[in-house]
Amino acid sequence: MSIPCPKCGRLYTFDGTRCCNEYCRYGSAEKPKVDFTAVRRQRFSSEGGRKAIAIWIPAWYELDPPLLEVDLTAEFAFCRTNPSSLGDNAPLVFYSGMSGEPVDVAWGTIAAIRHSQFGQIQTINTRGLDYKFLLADGKEFVVNAEETPGQLFEQREGEWAQAEMYVTDWRFTIEFSALADREPLEPR
Ligand SMILES: [Zn+2]
Repeated sequence: MSIPCPKCGRLYTFDGTRCCNEYCRYGSAEKPKVDFTAVRRQRFSSEGGRKAIAIWIPAWYELDPPLLEVDLTAEFAFCRTNPSSLGDNAPLVFYSGMSGEPVDVAWGTIAAIRHSQFGQIQTINTRGLDYKFLLADGKEFVVNAEETPGQLFEQREGEWAQAEMYVTDWRFTIEFSALADREPLEPR
């Protein structure tokens, strides 16, 4: 039996009595859960945000934000307090999942991604075990995040080969054209 929910379009539960979407729960006596991410997105699209700069230092091992891309609007996670190694005046720092520190989140739109050696970057995709870096000039690099973090590979004659460039500073600067006020991951 597959009955679409009249409110959200997801399917009803197998017994056909109520919506299976816990954020909707149409037909149920239970209150729907609040989708905080959706609430924050709604607020960001109506109220916007401020220009901001944040730094991202890869933690590797799939703990990083899945996608950083120019013009991307998404919810991002930040360290509530900056790692002490960065000093007091460091800008906002992306949360990497490594530290176990409290997390704040905010919706934002990325305007630019910069790195001291790569220059302008279009896309950083960290899904999977290879991190893919697409530069603004179209050049592409891959970094194996599991076995040899830090070693770059590039396309040469149709094959991936070790790149000559060696990155010494894995610090990326992410510029936001707008970033909402940060708030705790789940409001108290
Ligand atoms: Zn529903």
